[in-house]
Amino acid sequence: MPCTNRPIYNVTQDSEIPLIGCISFGVIDRGTNVLQIRPTSICVLSCIFCSTDAGPCSRWRQTEYIVELDYLLSTIRTVLKIKNSNKMEAHIDTVGDPLTYPKIVDLVHKLSEFPEFKVISLQTHGVLLNDKLIDELAEAGLSRINLSIDALDENLSKKLSGTETYDISRIISIAEYISLSPIDLLIAPVWVPGLNDHEIPRIIRFAKQIGAGKHWPPLGIQKYEAHKFGRKPPKVKPMTWYKFYNSLRALERKFKVKLVLKPSDFNIFKLPSIPIPFKRFEKVKMKVVGPGWLKGEKIAVARNRTITIVNAENIPIGTTVYARIIRVKHNIFIAKLE
Ligand code: SF4
Repeated sequence: MPCTNRPIYNVTQDSEIPLIGCISFGVIDRGTNVLQIRPTSICVLSCIFCSTDAGPCSRWRQTEYIVELDYLLSTIRTVLKIKNSNKMEAHIDTVGDPLTYPKIVDLVHKLSEFPEFKVISLQTHGVLLNDKLIDELAEAGLSRINLSIDALDENLSKKLSGTETYDISRIISIAEYISLSPIDLLIAPVWVPGLNDHEIPRIIRFAKQIGAGKHWPPLGIQKYEAHKFGRKPPKVKPMTWYKFYNSLRALERKFKVKLVLKPSDFNIFKLPSIPIPFKRFEKVKMKVVGPGWLKGEKIAVARNRTITIVNAENIPIGTTVYARIIRVKHNIFIAKLE
């Protein structure tokens, strides 16, 4: 299938689409002191293991979203009032790459003005970073970059990124530059068994050598998981959690570095979630307001939340429907038409 770009939907205050409820944009509160901030869904890479099927080579996506900055900030303000804690972390993670957000520096700067946020972190593969942008993000108040480096080998890193132009030598220079900046660096490879096993020790050595992790752990190795709508490299079988943690412990002993991480390593703790206005299996009247993220989906609105209707291909935008809520976890809502 040829790789293409998809239409971008601008989620603005005028769109009347709430920024809570959808996995692909807005704000996600999973009942801790961390708010996940998702200003964009776009990605420029097409990693062959991507759990969110992002990038130009996506098979399942039909729409990308960009959220208006002021609208995002007003939702964050509302959520922070409910969370009522001054030990919050803003984690800009997204289902793509946050650096595709045109106002990423402004966003970080505005987040740093909220007294509730003590930490502002960002998850990226780094291809859109450069020294000037790193300086600007540091100046704006970014505390940590979680930088995904999945292989140091040139050919393998290209293969894993699904992108011919991916240049690992540039990413290495960027990692070195971050490690010398006021921003903390955490290197976060995805361990894809059978593909980058030999790279994991090299990445650990590299993280130690450049002095990653001054305030937080230097590495956050992630386990590859096969997701229903994610990309699955052929012949790759996910490791069991048992094997994954055993392997990390063996590497910890060998390299004398912390690899098995706990929420407390990042000062993450439980904090009551904002109210969840639906019950699972409830039938709800909702207004269909826009295209859904994945093919066949539409987004709808009820009770100040956005709901994804998964089987709404033929439902026109602007109509009102009754749909059954089938998922309510963490204020992310999925509904089905019956
Ligand atoms: S893994 Fe991250 S960088 Fe790679 S395609 Fe997915 S969202 Fe983009």
